[in-house]
Amino acid sequence: SSVPTITLNNGSVMPQLGFGVWQVPDDEAASAVTTAIEAGYRSIDTAAIYENERGTGRGLASSGVPREELFVTTKLWNAEQGYDSTLRAFDASLNRLGLDYVDLYLIHWPVPERDKYVDTWKAFEKINSEGRAKAVGVSNFNPVHLRRLLDETGTVPAVNQIELHPHLQQSEARAFHAEHGIATEAWSPLGQGKDLLQDPTLNSLAGKYGKSPAQVVLRWHLQTGNVVIPKSVTPSRIRENIDVFGFELDESEMADIAKLNSDSRLGPDPDTMN
Ligand code: NAD
Repeated sequence: SSVPTITLNNGSVMPQLGFGVWQVPDDEAASAVTTAIEAGYRSIDTAAIYENERGTGRGLASSGVPREELFVTTKLWNAEQGYDSTLRAFDASLNRLGLDYVDLYLIHWPVPERDKYVDTWKAFEKINSEGRAKAVGVSNFNPVHLRRLLDETGTVPAVNQIELHPHLQQSEARAFHAEHGIATEAWSPLGQGKDLLQDPTLNSLAGKYGKSPAQVVLRWHLQTGNVVIPKSVTPSRIRENIDVFGFELDESEMADIAKLNSDSRLGPDPDTMN
């Protein structure tokens, strides 16, 4: 496919654009994943808490694409944090996916009030050393949480998957990631398809290029260097969201989108989410 890749700090190669399946019911996940793979996606982002790892795994298996050409991410849910419980939860995820390894395993949230993410990360290091997760990373970690992993363990997360879109541009986190060789992956990259896509700047750029506002936003992410995982269950949108490689925003257009930042979250605050 035409999707560019980025090389993670452990040497893994990850597609810069993938398919997210949050809120896709398990019995629809297989067909959504199959549609995405047919459209050219090779990276799929699920999580234990999405309760669709089985359907996702069925979609991967029925796609006919060889396992080594796919990039599968899943995540450890908050309630399973802790060394032994992480090892068990990982086995259960692999089992539901029907895989013998994942490409990327993420701690879903830091849950600072329970203070278990360092022990959890040590279990991730073991899973990684066994080759059962080719790369390991985190999600929703603020720089202060990342700092603790850097200070107290020997493995730098390959990825931090955080809420990121033009209304929440995360410049502080992105700078910290760049300094430490952590890839920035954007969740809700389209702002969940809500207000963001009504924005006049994005709509006028869409008009100029004959693209949709969603495609303009995805183009902005790619040119910013983010990994993106837009979600849709609508086949035409699944295809639209990967058709973002035939145009380019110029410097002043990128700057215009940079001005849309309002530091507004759609999801929970990582400091208090439990
Ligand atoms: P998103 O920003 O990808 O938006 C998806 C929604 O936007 C769709 O449900 C649809 O309503 C709309 N949409 C999609 N394509 C469109 C198009 N071309 N035109 C117009 N509208 C369109 O939101 P998301 O699903 O929250 O995030 C993407 C993925 O990120 C998730 O599926 C999941 O894999 C991941 N995620 C991770 C976390 C985390 O805590 N790590 C949290 C949320 C999401």
